[in-house]
Amino acid sequence: MTSPSIRVAQHAGVCFGVKRALEEASKVLAEQDGSIHTLGELIHNPRVVQDLEQQGAHVAHSVDEVKDGTLIIRAHGVAPQVKQAAEDAGLHVVDATCPFVKRVQDHARSLYKGGYQVVIVGEAGHPEVEGILGCTDGKACIVSSAQEVEFLDISSRVGVVVQTTQTSKNLREVVDALLLRAREVRVFDTICSATNERQEAARALAATCDLMLVIGGRNSGNTRRLFQICHDVCPCTYHIEDAREIDPKWVACASNIGITAGASTPQGQIDDVLSTLKQITS
Ligand code: SF4
Repeated sequence: MTSPSIRVAQHAGVCFGVKRALEEASKVLAEQDGSIHTLGELIHNPRVVQDLEQQGAHVAHSVDEVKDGTLIIRAHGVAPQVKQAAEDAGLHVVDATCPFVKRVQDHARSLYKGGYQVVIVGEAGHPEVEGILGCTDGKACIVSSAQEVEFLDISSRVGVVVQTTQTSKNLREVVDALLLRAREVRVFDTICSATNERQEAARALAATCDLMLVIGGRNSGNTRRLFQICHDVCPCTYHIEDAREIDPKWVACASNIGITAGASTPQGQIDDVLSTLKQITS
């Protein structure tokens, strides 16, 4: 029997912002100066969170839970009021907010200060969106789709920013709906290309495979979305958190195996899956 081909999607695994947050956490851990906490799970990956915990970086769910030491802010960012509260409490704050998220926060702040009614296109309650909202003193409106625009009380000058993981299509539809109602609409397209690149690469690879493995936390929204995209074109798609979940039966009849991974999946976990597959198929 010939061995199957095994290919990894052209864009897969940790994005720039997550990689940077992990590097910041490693630096803090290497210094080990007092207690270390991350504000929320650093990334949506249970294995990485467990590793960090074992090394001494604990998860705090609010600033109040942390009495002293270092507090790491994750790539999603937080509202400026939350960061200020941590500094006022005397904590050493390491801000690992992704620069692309900071850019959204800065645009939202300058629109708000410039007198615009700020509209955030995104998912209400998502930590990134909560952080952006804080930059407008909680005054921005959040809409997830064009249909929600009709329920807004619109002023004549509207400024739009968008959660980094939204689609261009959704942004366009919301802006079109706003243009019908406001005299001036100023738009900052703050979508990050990392999500789109991973989705397009996963779709292209899955279309050529008879088995597709999607690696990432089950609590990771972007990994679940990758699974859905791959499953639509390759019915034999499995979402796994690590290599131990691979069932040799899946691999037995496969001749083209594809692998992709969510934006919170470190390269080491992709490498583990690759070597497990090679062992099974050799
Ligand atoms: S998806 Fe983009 S904005 Fe979000 S953390 Fe990654 S690089 Fe930053």
